[in-house]
Amino acid sequence: LKKEGIKLCKKILEEASLASVESFLRCGISFNSWKIGPGIGEIYFTDSDEYRALTQATFIELWKKGLIYEAERVNNFCPGCGTTIADAEVVYEEKPTLFNYIKFKVKETGEDIVIGTTRPELLCSCAIILFNPSDDRYKHLEGKTAIVPLYEKEVPIKAHPIADPEKGTGLVMMCSFGDLTDVRFFREMGLKPIIAIDSDGKMNENSGFLFGLSVEEAREKIIEELKKKGLLVKQERVMHRTPVCERSGHPIEFIALKEFYLKQVEFKEDMLELANQLNFFAPQSRQILIDWINSISIDWPISRRRVYATEIPLWYCKSCGEAILPEPGKYYQPWNEPAPVEKCPKCGSKEFVGEERVFDTWFDSSITPLYILGWNRSGGIFDKVKRCSLRPQGKEIIRTWLYYTLLKCYLLTGERIFDDVWVNFHIVDEKGYKMSKSRGNVIKPEELLDRFGAEPVRLWAAVEGDITKTDFKCSFERISGAAKTITKLWNVARFISIFDKCDKPEELCMLDKWILQELNRLIKLARKSYGKYDFHVPAVKLRHFLWETFASHYVELVKRRAYNSEGKFSEAEQRSAIWTLYECLRLMLLLFAPILPMISYRIYSVLFGGD
Ligand SMILES: [Zn+2]
Ligand SMILES: [Zn+2]
Repeated sequence: LKKEGIKLCKKILEEASLASVESFLRCGISFNSWKIGPGIGEIYFTDSDEYRALTQATFIELWKKGLIYEAERVNNFCPGCGTTIADAEVVYEEKPTLFNYIKFKVKETGEDIVIGTTRPELLCSCAIILFNPSDDRYKHLEGKTAIVPLYEKEVPIKAHPIADPEKGTGLVMMCSFGDLTDVRFFREMGLKPIIAIDSDGKMNENSGFLFGLSVEEAREKIIEELKKKGLLVKQERVMHRTPVCERSGHPIEFIALKEFYLKQVEFKEDMLELANQLNFFAPQSRQILIDWINSISIDWPISRRRVYATEIPLWYCKSCGEAILPEPGKYYQPWNEPAPVEKCPKCGSKEFVGEERVFDTWFDSSITPLYILGWNRSGGIFDKVKRCSLRPQGKEIIRTWLYYTLLKCYLLTGERIFDDVWVNFHIVDEKGYKMSKSRGNVIKPEELLDRFGAEPVRLWAAVEGDITKTDFKCSFERISGAAKTITKLWNVARFISIFDKCDKPEELCMLDKWILQELNRLIKLARKSYGKYDFHVPAVKLRHFLWETFASHYVELVKRRAYNSEGKFSEAEQRSAIWTLYECLRLMLLLFAPILPMISYRIYSVLFGGD
């Protein structure tokens, strides 16, 4: 079954990957090579055997450096994906939920107290009741004992600043675990957690009568039970900031599982320094990375319980449990292959069991620069160049792709792995909403390419705004507007091409000098902007130059001199006009080339020859 699953995943991924490659190709992106393969500069897949061998080699090296350890600790768990996930993969969504006011009894005084909660199914794991030290309503309860309803369990009542007097009744029950705050609170207070939810997302024996139910079912059942016994005072509909899995959207649970961790907390200062060494385009994106680094509180859990991912290259001795690492350089599937040793180096046993867990996908993706540069590979250029010049990427993966790449490459090479980071915002739908499957407003890039062609889409994207600073709305009307500029460029070129090319005259007419001077100014600006990966400013200025300065003014003024059909101008004056028309076109094509590579290449090669 596992083999079938892997085959299916591989097929789906291959189709999706090839579709992306196709879109890139049609967009006119200039990669080093369009060949798929393991060579330097060729298109690679992060699930290829070669790539996975490198991912595993980095694990082996980091293990040997003592930077990886295994620990059982409470962490984010996605019941949908069935695996532990890192903080970087958790997003927060405002979800409607019920805030339930539940009656507890105070053991010493017999009085009723009311506590509000969105997670009544966790009552069985309630460890302490808190009120704010400044909250006069509850000062008399300090040191007393509350009895948890239905479970008849005794828990202490204490003052603690974490309780918000404005929220609910001002009393809060701390359970293991409703959210990350609870996890940290238990850790700091040294409280023993009672885990009520198992790794299959079902309630376990600690939850008593809820045993075997899913979290949602358990919530309904316990509310029913509380109602029946008159213990539910009221319910309020609230919006609750819920941690959910970025990948599957399931609400996160907090479960203790044994996972491998890569050390990162002790490198926070180093990472902040790297963040400051990088050139960010736009500069304000740096802060997103810095804020993320500052927020890191635990090491990176790198093991996952999934079917399709790079296997953790480990075997264990069946009799003594010793972990066996293979030699780096090959791709290993421990669940599918014999151990790389004959007998256990510790106890001599000859029986082994392969590791079933796999890596976090970012453990693969975080070494793309090392793969690109051929780090530790014969024929690689890593030793010569040490780093990639540029990382272009989306802002939503700064805390994952960018951060993890910097971290892992730093741990392996001791340095920053890029010079420049170019961070793009997103193209949203026409109304400004993020495109998503659930909203049904996704516009596929292929659709745009089919409808408008690549060049109008590229020009539109450059003219519309600076995507390193803001989202764009996808407007078909504006994309077809961009197509008009391309038609204009084509028509201008066609007009100029009716004249025979000529050599530059000794002296240019004043008007011709003027247009070249205008264009020179534009060249300076474009050089400066392109050097900063800014395509917006040159695109806007070029478009204006083409339509207004050049076509509407200069061409209109110079037309008669270029034709010279009545012989009113000298031959030198006519030549000055024709030579300048061609020169302006040539320079405009060069300036447009980064944005309109195909049309500018086509016109250039026909009229001027060469590449
Ligand atoms: Zn998930
Ligand atoms: Zn052994």
